Amino acid sequence: MDFSELRKEMVRTQLLPRGIRDRRVIEAMLKVPRHLFVSESLRYRAYEDCALPIGEGQTISQPYMVAVMTELLELKGNERVLEIGTGSGYQAAILAELAKEVYTIERIETIAERAERILRELGYQNVYVFSGDGTRGLPEYAPFDRILITAGTPEIPDVLKEQLNDGGIIVAPVGSRYSQQLVKMIKRHNAYKMEFHTPCVFVPLIGEYGWKEE
Ligand code: SAH
Repeated sequence: MDFSELRKEMVRTQLLPRGIRDRRVIEAMLKVPRHLFVSESLRYRAYEDCALPIGEGQTISQPYMVAVMTELLELKGNERVLEIGTGSGYQAAILAELAKEVYTIERIETIAERAERILRELGYQNVYVFSGDGTRGLPEYAPFDRILITAGTPEIPDVLKEQLNDGGIIVAPVGSRYSQQLVKMIKRHNAYKMEFHTPCVFVPLIGEYGWKEE
């Protein structure tokens, strides 16, 4: 299978018509081998317009959702980014192409280990994978310039806002357990401006400042 051709088609049919414009985001989506972040049996479907299972009831997000969230972060290349919900590691790889450093935290240890291994095999040296409850952020490594939550959350936890630099941006799917809306929050002089973007469905953020385990 010509995966590079499938990536071009993904960009042409899924991202451009829906308004993804940031050239750097498009370049990263053309470059990162998404098929290596799913199990071998799902590789042929890696560039389809949907989320796919990665085990433990978790998913790798739909390509379009990865692109929108990344575009909303407005990365220029110098940022330290915190991602909550490593999952497959694919979004972390996209962030690593566009920012200086990526700290990513995953609740399920086996998933974190797998993502870390794939990222290492692909040669990413600016991604640091942690395992634990990301709703508390990573106070030892704060502050961050950008925070991306890639699991559905009832609200953006205050502890995360505190770990964000002035001028920083948080992007998160905020809403109920089963459906959310993408929110972009901009911090300026300790005030927060909210923008509401596309409706979406993510697996729940489970932890101290997220949802309780069912
Ligand atoms: N960004 C991922 C998709 C993530 S799916 C990718 O590119 O593939 C959401 C992930 O968030 C799941 O793996 C889930 O286990 C994880 N998660 C849920 N609650 C969490 C928490 N409190 N801290 C860290 N990770 C969490």
